[in-house]
Amino acid sequence: MKEKFLALGGKIETNCEVLDLEIEDKEVKKAVCSNGKTFTADYFIAAIDANFFYEKLLKGKYPDPQFQKRFENPEDYPVPSELRISIGYEGVPNNIPRTIRFPVSSPFKINGNIIDRLQLTNYDYEPDFSPEGKTLFSVTINQFNSDYDAWDELYNNKGNYRKEKDRIGEEVVKAIETRFPEMKGKLKVLDIATPKTFERYCNSYRGGIIAFSPTLKGKSMDHSGYVRGLKNIQLSGQWLQGTGGLPPALITGKASIMRICKKEKLEFVQ
Ligand SMILES: Cc1cc2nc3c(=O)[nH]c(=O)nc-3n(C[C@H](O)[C@H](O)[C@H](O)COP(=O)(O)OP(=O)(O)OC[C@H]3O[C@@H](n4cnc5c(N)ncnc54)[C@H](O)[C@@H]3O)c2cc1C
Repeated sequence: MKEKFLALGGKIETNCEVLDLEIEDKEVKKAVCSNGKTFTADYFIAAIDANFFYEKLLKGKYPDPQFQKRFENPEDYPVPSELRISIGYEGVPNNIPRTIRFPVSSPFKINGNIIDRLQLTNYDYEPDFSPEGKTLFSVTINQFNSDYDAWDELYNNKGNYRKEKDRIGEEVVKAIETRFPEMKGKLKVLDIATPKTFERYCNSYRGGIIAFSPTLKGKSMDHSGYVRGLKNIQLSGQWLQGTGGLPPALITGKASIMRICKKEKLEFVQ
């Protein structure tokens, strides 16, 4: 997809966070980035987090009823997040599959919830992920609505936030060493990402790794991406459909381009 885009004359700028949109006469005139770069365009497609888009980029001036309803009610419209603990192993496991879920012999708590099983991903099939003779593992622990609130509060005290991450890292290493005694003393925590990490790096709403989860009271999302009151900008991506994920991200991206083609009376070429 990237090759095709470049071959057609497209340009890609990375590490270029858009922090402001200059709006005049119901049109976005300019996107202003954190590195000082600015971009003008006939049309803008915001393929980013929906909350960041409405609240930060549009400064809450173009509220959308479908999204407002969801942002104001995280109980019925929660977004799932996770803790991702990356661990280096000084060795190559020969007896564990790509993904394994195992019981924790001494369960521990995170935000009051008991963690008695862990899921470990073994990346020994990825030669570029670790030096020869060593292996990268990751352990993921699902995080939900109340977890985000707890991490958000803890984040106000960086020392305590760090300590809690370290404690979880130690518990996870202990659990792996108990399940796989041959790994004792050979595991090192490399990094721990919390919902606050996803929020900080990706501007993701409540640290979400995918869009709104289905609940009994929550309704499925189906949004066009148009912004009421603005003529030349659309939201695109996972937040517009169902519970998000890669398929809606692709489909809504295609729909955004098709709408521009229609407006410009251009043929949409697959
Ligand atoms: C660990 C994990 C596992 C997953 N597993 C699956 C799976 O198995 N199946 C599935 O369908 N989905 C899965 N997902 C979800 C899937 O990755 C997302 O639904 C999908 O990436 C959403 O695509 P998107 O283009 O809408 O948004 P994103 O992929 O979030 O892309 C948005 C981009 O915008 C950038 N950005 C944010 N703010 C700005 C700004 N102000 N200026 C410029 N750029 C900005 C972000 O850095 C990001 O690169 C998983 C996600 C995670 C984290």
